[in-house]
Amino acid sequence: MQSHIMKAAVLYELNKPLEVKEVEQPEILPNEVLVEQDSTGICYRDILTQKGFFPRVSLPIVPGHEISGRIVKKGDDVRGFNVGDRVSSLIYVPCGKCEFCLSGSENLCPYKKTFGEMMNGAYEKYINIPEISLVKVPDGVPAPDASIAACVTGMIIHAISRLGKLQQGQNILITGAGGGVGTHAIQVAKALGAHVIAETSSPWKSEQLYHLGADHVVTGKEFNKEVKDLTGDGVHVVLESVGLPTFERALRSLRVGGRMIVIGNVDPTAVPLPLGLIILKGNTIKGSISSTKEDVSKALELNKAGKVHSVVYKTVSLSEVNEAYDDMLAKRSVGRIMLKL
Ligand SMILES: [Zn+2]
Ligand SMILES: [Zn+2]
Repeated sequence: MQSHIMKAAVLYELNKPLEVKEVEQPEILPNEVLVEQDSTGICYRDILTQKGFFPRVSLPIVPGHEISGRIVKKGDDVRGFNVGDRVSSLIYVPCGKCEFCLSGSENLCPYKKTFGEMMNGAYEKYINIPEISLVKVPDGVPAPDASIAACVTGMIIHAISRLGKLQQGQNILITGAGGGVGTHAIQVAKALGAHVIAETSSPWKSEQLYHLGADHVVTGKEFNKEVKDLTGDGVHVVLESVGLPTFERALRSLRVGGRMIVIGNVDPTAVPLPLGLIILKGNTIKGSISSTKEDVSKALELNKAGKVHSVVYKTVSLSEVNEAYDDMLAKRSVGRIMLKL
């Protein structure tokens, strides 16, 4: 096969718009496959990368890490996958050898390399992926669901199920519920049998959040009081995906023995941490990063069962990527903006 010349959206300089350029696809290595993508998700993380929040970014870079598609070529050392297989990829390449990789917590691998940050990512039609990052996609899973299985659905499963230990019948508060993460978190929490309270600072999104399965939507600045009124004693789990604007109110929404799982931070300013509150209520705060291959498999099973579907706000072309970033920054979008490749 000839090497591909293809269009890619490229970040050349921090805080500057992306540029669509022709790039040459490098030849795959023996441990890699070449994946042909149909589309990819635009993630808030890509905007944070553009803004310089990730100091390890190596410029110029093709951003994006929400990768799925069909294998069109494979290297000689690839054993578990074949040409024609549908796959989803982790958002990173783990080392495969450290204590975290060997114990099924490859999301914590200190040597992992993230697509779109340290290696070229998904804002291009063809992408080389090492076998160690791949998960097979079961039949019947729609393409956008497969694209966001690692970054969104699997990451949520890791946070609220594996770390948050959310059980059937328990209450969960999801902050920033109108965003790309929150709209899917509502569905995952409902699939786990939880009672879901969705928080959004954009009240016009309420109707859609109910439609996705939220039992209650809270929109006030002091939403913790609404949560207390709804639950009596607070929620078992908070999925905190915003950071400074919601953190303290979210913490005050927890019941005794509650768990807050922090997965997002839109503002690098430190948050106030009322220690007395944590001590007296025996609450825990845990950070959660990304997903493992097991989480991605669970995500794809929920997609296959029809319990979780991707919420796509709109699909745009590569040349419209900068406008899509503006839409996300202005909170105009409900759910994911997909990039057609
Ligand atoms: Zn993402
Ligand atoms: Zn590792």
